Amino acid sequence: MIKVVASANGIVGIGAALDVLKRGGSAISAVEAGIKLVEDNPLDHTVGYAGLPNLLGEVELDASIMDGRTRAAGAVGAFKDYPYAISVARKVMEELPHCFLVGEGARRFAREMGFEAKELLTDVAEEKWKRMMDEHAPELSRGRDAYMDRIRDFVRLTRDPERPNETVNFIALDSRGSLCCGVSTSGWAWKYPGRVGDSAVIGAGNYADDRWGACACTGRGELAIRAATARSVVLYLSQGMSLPQAGERALEDLYQLEDAYFGPVSLIVMNPRGEHVAMSIADDMEYVYQDGEMMEPKKLGRHHVPRPGDRS
Ligand code: ASP
Repeated sequence: MIKVVASANGIVGIGAALDVLKRGGSAISAVEAGIKLVEDNPLDHTVGYAGLPNLLGEVELDASIMDGRTRAAGAVGAFKDYPYAISVARKVMEELPHCFLVGEGARRFAREMGFEAKELLTDVAEEKWKRMMDEHAPELSRGRDAYMDRIRDFVRLTRDPERPNETVNFIALDSRGSLCCGVSTSGWAWKYPGRVGDSAVIGAGNYADDRWGACACTGRGELAIRAATARSVVLYLSQGMSLPQAGERALEDLYQLEDAYFGPVSLIVMNPRGEHVAMSIADDMEYVYQDGEMMEPKKLGRHHVPRPGDRS
């Protein structure tokens, strides 16, 4: 059985990921191929090129990849100037004795590995940033330097209800029965510079273990970091829970966390038999999947797991 499960915005890359698997390629190559197309998509303002910037108008990317067979992992955080964060994360996994590079070190490594730099801030994304700043923090869009010492005051903008809430998640199962999980994002729009979210943190937004399954998250990354959500799901699977039980239990763990910015978290999970679930604290989230027999990907609603106070 070969199969790919992805967040809804993965629809532009799921065919390419499945093609890799059909040709006998690895789950790792499938995840990378699928995510790169999302990173390239100029209409997606939550991932890679055209992603929304931080408070200072700079695009900073987070990405991670984990091989369920070896449990090797690679990640980059607060990573600027290169569009394919997932490919650089893969290189970290394969070429370095490390799992995680951030900021300037990650850029240096990308350059050293021969990746091509590119301006990531598109006119549309810049326009959205400018509009937001003009309305809520005109000081930042006019003269950034004068306010460099107190931009923390503006982090309240991360509560912006219009803020797009996505990130791309891919999980692939290859013909050898191996799982790979990949996540890539431009993170919370208008975030504090240098903020790294769950997408780059192995165990938080990404985890894969061929013995039990793989899980990837989107949504309020600070919660997934605090509760080690992706790793929790896999651990619950290892303890004998079913896929829906493990996912629900991990989302319920988040309800316990006090957080003035509480936002929905969503996840996708697949086990080594190719069974999968997708669930969300929000009620309108979708996901996509496609296996080797299907001609087209299927888009479905996620199972809704509301917070107790939100249940009607
Ligand atoms: N999880 C991502 C982050 O916290 C953002 C998102 O999925 O909306 O950076």
